[in-house]
Amino acid sequence: METSSGVIDVVVIGSGFGGAVVASRLIDAGIAVTLLERGPWRDTVATRSAGIARTVPFPRDLSLVTRLLRSLRLPGTPRLTFTKHGLFDIHIDRGVSVICSSSVGGGSHVYSGLQRLPHVANFWDGHAEGVSTAGLQPHYDAVLADMGSAQASPALKLPNTTYQRYANSNAIETPPPEGPTWLGFLFPTEPGKPETITDANGITRNQIDVAANDDGFLGSPGGGKTSLDIAYLIPAMRKGLKIRDLCEVESIEQLSGNAAARYAVHVTDHHSGRKERLLAANVIVAAGGLNTLRLLLRSRDGAKTLSGMPNLGRRFGCNGDFMGWWDQSEYGDLTAGLPARGPFRARGPEDHPVLGGGAFPAIDRYPLPQFLKQRLRRVQWIAGIGVDAMDGVARWSSQGLRIDFNGDDSPVFARIKAGVRALVERTGKRIHYTKNPITVHPTGGACMGASIATAVVDANGEVFDHPGLYVADAAALPAEPGGPPSLTIAAWASHVAARFIARRKAS
Ligand SMILES: Cc1cc2nc3c(=O)[nH]c(=O)nc-3n(C[C@H](O)[C@H](O)[C@H](O)COP(=O)(O)OP(=O)(O)OC[C@H]3O[C@@H](n4cnc5c(N)ncnc54)[C@H](O)[C@@H]3O)c2cc1C
Repeated sequence: METSSGVIDVVVIGSGFGGAVVASRLIDAGIAVTLLERGPWRDTVATRSAGIARTVPFPRDLSLVTRLLRSLRLPGTPRLTFTKHGLFDIHIDRGVSVICSSSVGGGSHVYSGLQRLPHVANFWDGHAEGVSTAGLQPHYDAVLADMGSAQASPALKLPNTTYQRYANSNAIETPPPEGPTWLGFLFPTEPGKPETITDANGITRNQIDVAANDDGFLGSPGGGKTSLDIAYLIPAMRKGLKIRDLCEVESIEQLSGNAAARYAVHVTDHHSGRKERLLAANVIVAAGGLNTLRLLLRSRDGAKTLSGMPNLGRRFGCNGDFMGWWDQSEYGDLTAGLPARGPFRARGPEDHPVLGGGAFPAIDRYPLPQFLKQRLRRVQWIAGIGVDAMDGVARWSSQGLRIDFNGDDSPVFARIKAGVRALVERTGKRIHYTKNPITVHPTGGACMGASIATAVVDANGEVFDHPGLYVADAAALPAEPGGPPSLTIAAWASHVAARFIARRKAS
């Protein structure tokens, strides 16, 4: 909603774990919010039931070629955008590659649905006054309740877990998980018998069919994965949230001399192809770890419409991410099951880090010959995670965003690779991986902290030297959670909203 002067109270940029949660909380408090998302609404059972008119299917069949990639950036070249409807955005730099996605609902469509508290004890303590682990806990609890996440347990009777698969293996062991893992899916009331249901918000969804394996990193067309459009955005829209899909923010401009509008947000509306300038009193950036940095750096150093932020781009990290792939033909068809199957590591006295993995989703719908599909059914992706040195630097260059990161600075990558080599030795199977880290968990670069001398945003998520400009996503995290971060990002966004609402009420 705009004021009579055309000024929007709050503009939220991005609709992932940061943007969806912050927007929904503000709407619940009666604050007018417009959310801008560069990606499209996805065509699912849920969005159809909610009457969303303009949707784009997840890539399947030939569209796996035409719609898998939204954009790609190779080292030393500018980013190439192939199609505004594409699902993934890949940034390859010399020392690191970053993968993120683009849709209304952000990374929740492609993620594996694992939700955990930070692996780092007392994660939120000691960064800034007013932020603490105890203070954030109610936000974690609220997000888990909003998403209806289920705690992982044998009662779910999931097929193909690592516990089943490696139970009798002399080469691989499955250590018990440290702390609870929640799963962001709608499970069948009776295991193995998925039904179509209508939830409390009147949204229709198919309970997840784990045998079909259609709910992994290529989206969940039936709605078995609890994506953020289902959990937050559609309900918030019904309460007044204005969502502009396919609306890409190009830059943010700080205004002076206008009491009501503190920022102008420059956008391209991909529906019409028109460029627009939206006036806002407050701007909350939640474009994801990679694109929040791109947007703030481009605005400051490219368009020169923001200034200051001396620590912007510093302390970028990969959450210790490691990716590889592994032929496991001795275990037969691996496809049935959840996107991620549980922990494992090489058996032995060494304290190797725990790895995770899962099958490739929706293989029947790949435009590939049968024999290749059959082969892919026996391959699993494999991932390691942890805490790295978080010493990367993102900056603006003549080619656009550039990230300098050297995995050799962080012992975590060498440790994970040693664990992977041990698996190769014990199993005799090759595991393929790249020299430099590939991350799906870009973290930091606009970190929260005690002062502008060391950080970019304060305990409210507000940029120190830009009143009314906030960061509510992975870029603001003060450290790496060392495990799946989506729950922590959502909790941070919920905290940012609570502080915004409290200050609004107080004034
Ligand atoms: C394959 C894969 C599997 C994963 N599995 C897990 C998992 O199991 N558990 C877990 O915790 N995490 C997982 N993650 C990571 C998780 O998805 C991210 O940490 C999380 O989505 C980040 O939330 P965010 O709000 O910071 O950004 P995002 O969720 O990425 O949302 C940012 C949104 O902003 C939009 N945007 C970007 N730029 C602009 C712009 N200029 N204008 C308008 N909109 C813009 C993007 O299109 C996107 O929708 C996975 C990620 C991937 C890729």
